[in-house]
Amino acid sequence: MKLKEYCGIVGVYNKEEAANYVYLGLHALQHRGQESTGIVSTDSKIFYEHKDHGLVNEVFNKKDVMSLLKGKMAIGHNRYSTLGDNSISNIQPLSAHFDMGDIAIAHNGNIINAESIKKNLVEKGAIFNSNSDTEIIIHLIAKSEKKTFFDRLVDALKILKGAFSLIVMRENEIYAIRDPWGFRPLSIGKLDDSVVFASETCAFDLIGAEFIRDVKPGEIVIAGRNGIESYEPFEKKEEQKCAFELIYFARPDSYLWGQYTYSVRKKMGEILAEESPVEADIVIPTPDSGVPAALGFAEASNTPFDFGLIRNHYVGRTFIEPSQSIRNFGVRLKLNPARDVLENKRVVVVDDSIVRGTTSRRIVKMLKGAGAKEVHIRIASPPVIAPCFYGIDTPTKKELIASSHTVEEIKKYSTADSVAYLSLDGLKQIVGESGYCFSCFTAQYPIEFDK
Ligand code: AMP
Repeated sequence: MKLKEYCGIVGVYNKEEAANYVYLGLHALQHRGQESTGIVSTDSKIFYEHKDHGLVNEVFNKKDVMSLLKGKMAIGHNRYSTLGDNSISNIQPLSAHFDMGDIAIAHNGNIINAESIKKNLVEKGAIFNSNSDTEIIIHLIAKSEKKTFFDRLVDALKILKGAFSLIVMRENEIYAIRDPWGFRPLSIGKLDDSVVFASETCAFDLIGAEFIRDVKPGEIVIAGRNGIESYEPFEKKEEQKCAFELIYFARPDSYLWGQYTYSVRKKMGEILAEESPVEADIVIPTPDSGVPAALGFAEASNTPFDFGLIRNHYVGRTFIEPSQSIRNFGVRLKLNPARDVLENKRVVVVDDSIVRGTTSRRIVKMLKGAGAKEVHIRIASPPVIAPCFYGIDTPTKKELIASSHTVEEIKKYSTADSVAYLSLDGLKQIVGESGYCFSCFTAQYPIEFDK
């Protein structure tokens, strides 16, 4: 089975104890992947690596692990795969040795033509260690007949279709790359004389790095002996930044594509309140992802904001649990109602999105069970009707409740007194008409699929 990679990536160039900075960066990006994590470092002679299943602080807290990751350059990766492939060979960064030396790659995204590329390579005798897309990139680079590493890298990447934000390390330099559509984020930061790359700017904040700018769609940025170099070798495409990063995936304190995610989410709540007002006594969020939108909703509707659901912070995101039966249980593991806040109240509960509908249904039951008189669900994104093929973990179309149910039917299923979503126009009012991928809301995919 092919693995999809929903991930966080970090790279540090030219810093003593680079691996320690990458470790901290990965810690800040833990929300982008909780299944496994890894760091590869180099002293420009040897590549050192440590990878394992688990959270960043579990994997790297073992005695001596960090001191073994030597050198002034390091890259790291957190993985968020739900396909349950436990093989250690799938944990990134992937590293390999080829005719031009050592290479390590950390990838965030999903390459949609990976299967056909892999088939081709296997037919020509290539042997694969993992079933992740990333290994394909290494093979393509190694196989390219171009003379320089840079040309071989470009040659390889030109074959790929889909989402790829990449950090690539060689003995003396680190490359940061975004696919020509720019689906996934990747930013450049500066820490004294060092260059830092990370999926989100919250990683820079933790290590005290200064945000410089985003890697542009289709750009290859090289941090090396010549400082920072930038190249744009790919054919220009229409930008397709993932709207769902702003809605749910990125951390609220990250500065993403020119805006703070927190403010964008708050604005989503405000517009939602204007589009779908409701008479209520309190507005509560589904914590944590619904908090900024709920605040925006409360402010715009002049309704008191409160915490009616208390989150247990020691469980992962809802999706991590493997089966539907456990997932149902998972909502209760994570959230508990605050009875004194809810009793006899007309409650608006704001969440960022509905995917399968499990959370909403459970929450309505919980809130009513705790004495809420009315429960109105407000969702700060349009209905998710189609799966993502560009690097966000969404289930199959069949499992997405809004792909086969109207809002009225979702209301019935959830047993809420009303349900309303932010409109696509409302969302575009905030992020802009163009430059974003809205395919999970429209089922219109910006890159054609292979037949
Ligand atoms: P569901 O119960 O399947 O409707 O899931 C909805 C909840 O999952 C919402 O509270 C969202 O915050 C959260 N969510 C949305 N998208 C994702 C995702 N790709 N991965 C994990 N959780 C998500």
